[in-house]
Amino acid sequence: MALIVQKYGGTSVGSTDRIRSVARRVARFHREGHQLVVVVSAMSGETNRLLALVTKARILDINVEPLRKDLAAGAIVIVAGFQGVDADGNITTLGRGGSDTSGVALAAALGASECQIYTDVDGVYTTDPRIVPEARRLDRITFEEMLEMASLGSKVLQIRSVEFAGKYKIKMRVLSSFDDPESTATGTLITYEEDETMEQAIISGIAFNRDEAKISLMGVEDRPGVAYAILGPVAAANIDVDMIVQNIGASGHTDFSFTVHRSEYQKALEVLSREKGKGFTAREIISDNKICKVSLVGIGMRSHVGIAAKMFKALADEGINIQMISTSEIKTSVVIDEKYLELAVRQLHRVFELDQSPQAVWTRNTRISEAFVWTDRHEGG
Ligand code: ADP
Ligand code: MG
Repeated sequence: MALIVQKYGGTSVGSTDRIRSVARRVARFHREGHQLVVVVSAMSGETNRLLALVTKARILDINVEPLRKDLAAGAIVIVAGFQGVDADGNITTLGRGGSDTSGVALAAALGASECQIYTDVDGVYTTDPRIVPEARRLDRITFEEMLEMASLGSKVLQIRSVEFAGKYKIKMRVLSSFDDPESTATGTLITYEEDETMEQAIISGIAFNRDEAKISLMGVEDRPGVAYAILGPVAAANIDVDMIVQNIGASGHTDFSFTVHRSEYQKALEVLSREKGKGFTAREIISDNKICKVSLVGIGMRSHVGIAAKMFKALADEGINIQMISTSEIKTSVVIDEKYLELAVRQLHRVFELDQSPQAVWTRNTRISEAFVWTDRHEGG
């Protein structure tokens, strides 16, 4: 018997049939002897309306005492996931995807043994299965990879929920609410340790994000402080900057580019045109809000060279131009024209053989190298 938090997303409670199916699953876990806290999202379609009503709030505290009392009395506790109460007692929402975070936060506050996120896919895939039908479900993914995937645009889990899970080491699992309520499918488990015995894939997944826009300042003075002169006012306007690229200077001038969230793009342009000629000078400001970011994610990148080169070649083979590049220990991201998003994701998925299990790829590559050894010996002897 365990205490389990189950979160059901918008499409999982999108109709009375869906709600009935959720109820059957909840009843089954209860029958099996578990204590259950069920977090439900707003019905699909409702989130936009709710978001327009109130501002984004954060979780400061959860009052678990009433929940504990109900659980001890054998009740199933149902919580409206998106909603919270602010310091003045007003009801607020936690923003889009906020119910994922509510689920994890409740699991942490109650010391639950697991937080199960039920959605319309049966786990975390190598990439969004709506874009790549060959995408493969992962049995497990490391917390670090999941955090990168979420922050780079995979909307299967809200990033705050993954951060929260990591902070409190919550066992988190993604499953389908569309499976039979009696199903024993185990979905995708987010793990906190790299499994040494498992044949770890070099690349675990591909994330993408259409919500960005690029701003380039051409011919800015190449002098100390110019990056601050440009980005200082942008930060002061509360605008988040993602990728930043500054070119090598030539004859005292350089080009400076960065990306912002698409919804803040106009505001960023206004700030820059206001500051231009004051804090910095620029020959021209060029902007583009038809870009996207595509990222490869995998902890295997730490120990393997040539991943970025292979990625760039795969994109070049499809005639896709790379506008910006950024890398970290476990990810490589590129900014490209938005119209190539699907093509790029499918091409990378194929080239990195993400449709096949890491074991299959590994075994085949090993066979090939054995064949080479054999040929060498044969020719040598
Ligand atoms: P919910 O309403 O249950 O919170 P979401 O729409 O927020 O559901 O998240 C589920 C969706 O996330 C899937 O339908 C899928 O299209 C999308 N998605 C994006 N990337 C991935 C991925 N790597 N694996 C699985 N689903 C993904
Ligand atoms: Mg969601």
